[in-house]
Amino acid sequence: MSASLPVTIDDIEVAARRISGRVLTTPLVVSASLTELCGVPVGLKLEHHQTTGSFKLRGATNAVLSLSAGERALGVIAASTGNHGRALAHAAKAEGSVATICMSQLVPVNKVSEIRRLGAHVRIIGRSQNEAQDEVERLVASRGLVMVPPFDHPAIVAGQGTLGVEIVAQMPDVAMVLVPVSGGGLAAGVAAAVKARRPATRVIGLTMERGAAMKASLAAGQPVLVQEKPSLADSLGGGIGLDNRVTFRMCRELLDDIILLTEAEIAAGMRHAYAEEREVVEGAGAVGIAALLAGKIKDIEGPIAVILSGRNIDMDLHLRVMNGEMDPFPEEAP
Ligand SMILES: *Cc1c(COP(=O)(O)O)cnc(C)c1O
Repeated sequence: MSASLPVTIDDIEVAARRISGRVLTTPLVVSASLTELCGVPVGLKLEHHQTTGSFKLRGATNAVLSLSAGERALGVIAASTGNHGRALAHAAKAEGSVATICMSQLVPVNKVSEIRRLGAHVRIIGRSQNEAQDEVERLVASRGLVMVPPFDHPAIVAGQGTLGVEIVAQMPDVAMVLVPVSGGGLAAGVAAAVKARRPATRVIGLTMERGAAMKASLAAGQPVLVQEKPSLADSLGGGIGLDNRVTFRMCRELLDDIILLTEAEIAAGMRHAYAEEREVVEGAGAVGIAALLAGKIKDIEGPIAVILSGRNIDMDLHLRVMNGEMDPFPEEAP
């Protein structure tokens, strides 16, 4: 089955060797509180401590290192809701290239300034990822920059998959992996790695109710558009691309389920991470904890590995959520 997929465990192992020394091996620590709650061991993969604050550095570094010297000299470009942009800015600079990052006006200001600080050129355009992506394509055509997409690319998926290899090494008997899903690069890579090593391990995707593009696409049997809405889990915003080539197929083959979370559940997950685990995580990074707290994972088997995928949240917003705000981005009444 997996041999016919666009990214295999062999690709992921090549990526792991390539990016070794350039990204952190993040700890996987047991959560006493979640272990007690679930009745099976629950480990937190602290990937929000990765350099640039999210796992996206794995894929971006693998992608930049996969380019020829000539391509690196031209510079790389991407549309990003923030964490891919940060990661690509860092990875490009680390390898002597320059990144141009296009993003929509919905992206929080702290992410924009951070990307500039990392040495990238930032272009803010439109109100959706699709409009930002159109700008990328214009600049690829007019200036020859090399596009490094945030998820739908074999080198990105293979890089993100290195996280799955680490999880199995750190928790060899892992029975379930909880992974955040947006475009599906993380979930596809992690599932490919985990299922190659432990076929019986369940890999469950998690995302927010507000704009679950992969879930809707899997239900429809093909990539579909969903309306983008502001959410605490802003890193999970954006579609999967109507011409998706890699992650849709892989998620369809490899994910056991995708579970949706409300804003209040995501907020509760963030609060638990902070109050019980002493961890600052952004909304997207808290969906695994949120699903366990909300009792949304059925037929629990342990041990469970929960990926905390990022920590790049505006700290004023984080404070509001810690103080009990359940939905900082309420939907307008119909
Ligand atoms: C990008 C991102 C995700 C989702 O990853 P995809 O590969 O797009 O599914 C989850 N959490 C964080 C923090 C992210 O930055």
